Amino acid sequence: MNFELSDAQRMMKEMVREFAEKEIKPRAAEIDRTDEFPWDLWKRMAELGLLGMTLPSEYGGSGMDIVSWAIAQEEMARASVVVADIQLLSTLMQNMILKNGSEAQKQKHLPALGSGEKICIIAQTEPGAGSDVAGIQTTAKLERDGYVLNGTKRFITCAMLADLAIVVATVDKSKGHKGITLFLVEKGTPGFSPGSKEHLMGVKGMATGEVVLDNCWVPKENLLGGEGEGFKRAMISLDTGRIGIGCQALGLAQAAMEEAVRYAKQRTAFGGPIGNLQAVQHKLADMSAGIEAARLRLRHAAWLKDQGRSIIREAAEAKLLASELAVRVTNEALQIHGGYGYSTDFPIERMYREAKVYTIWEGTSEIQRMVIARQLLKEY
Ligand SMILES: Cc1cc2nc3c(=O)[nH]c(=O)nc-3n(C[C@H](O)[C@H](O)[C@H](O)COP(=O)(O)OP(=O)(O)OC[C@H]3O[C@@H](n4cnc5c(N)ncnc54)[C@H](O)[C@@H]3O)c2cc1C
Repeated sequence: MNFELSDAQRMMKEMVREFAEKEIKPRAAEIDRTDEFPWDLWKRMAELGLLGMTLPSEYGGSGMDIVSWAIAQEEMARASVVVADIQLLSTLMQNMILKNGSEAQKQKHLPALGSGEKICIIAQTEPGAGSDVAGIQTTAKLERDGYVLNGTKRFITCAMLADLAIVVATVDKSKGHKGITLFLVEKGTPGFSPGSKEHLMGVKGMATGEVVLDNCWVPKENLLGGEGEGFKRAMISLDTGRIGIGCQALGLAQAAMEEAVRYAKQRTAFGGPIGNLQAVQHKLADMSAGIEAARLRLRHAAWLKDQGRSIIREAAEAKLLASELAVRVTNEALQIHGGYGYSTDFPIERMYREAKVYTIWEGTSEIQRMVIARQLLKEY
């Protein structure tokens, strides 16, 4: 067993750590306050090659492994989960097109996504269906050698900025998940538009909002994968997403623990630093133990993915552990800050708000438990 990073992975980690410390971290509070998309950091990520990290070189990317990407996700999230998440979105959309697209679709879209010239979104969740993907109501009707899409999507990251969308629709509601189909829809297509912006508790600055499809016609060439294959294809790409989201939760937990340690050393009460109090020390010890355990589960899942192995249970477990950990650690870290933790003077208040989304997006904790248990029942 070798726990050492390769030279390339170590160098990449150092590069991302430096970028995150110097350029991302000083912006995190402002992004949260203004709720504005950090275009400058998006461009810097493109310059540093971070947007096309896992994209093969033939499409202009760096062709790095998932372990490297997982480490980059953690390092960026340690500074700002928002910046990490827009990188995740870019990576996952590239992967979806790479795995499911025709060569023409890959040539057309991947170089522009990997270079950050264009933003692609995934429009799946609807007002009435999130976890239950088979319950979506957006329809795709075959017409004039193409499909007419109708429906409304909610909570779509970067909805207001999308140049391209992977839209999840059903060609036949009576077929349940076997009717689910993926479509590529480009900005400027009549009937495709952003709706209202969401007003969120945290992870602000990602232009999250609705996507409206109103008699939106797309040609047959815009099918991503075959008719009725969307559910299976979307589920496969979820595994990598769960590793990335788990790493973001881990980076956030790590940042919150570091804030708590710093504060515990500097704040005095009853004649000494609060870090000398056993009750505070136990909180810090639990944070560290949980973080190390989650990091191992995440790294192992990422490594298995790089070996081409199935990681349905591993990715769900890693995401579940890391997201619930982030909620616990930010809560305890805020507690260690006392009243100051409840004020915007310290970053822990933002981290506490940001942590909660990790138990919701990319599959809620309840859904992860369902996935894990189903796999266990098959495996043993
Ligand atoms: C900030 C943010 C960004 C997002 N970005 C995107 C995006 O870019 N694209 C996109 O398509 N979606 C996105 N989402 C949507 C997200 O994926 C969904 O919110 C999530 O899947 C949950 O769906 P829901 O909100 O409809 O909740 P529901 O599915 O209605 O769940 C409500 C509750 O019921 C529980 N529940 C549901 N089914 C079960 C079950 N079978 N067993 C046990 N419990 C169950 C859930 O765990 C949850 O606690 C985003 C959400 C947020 C908050």
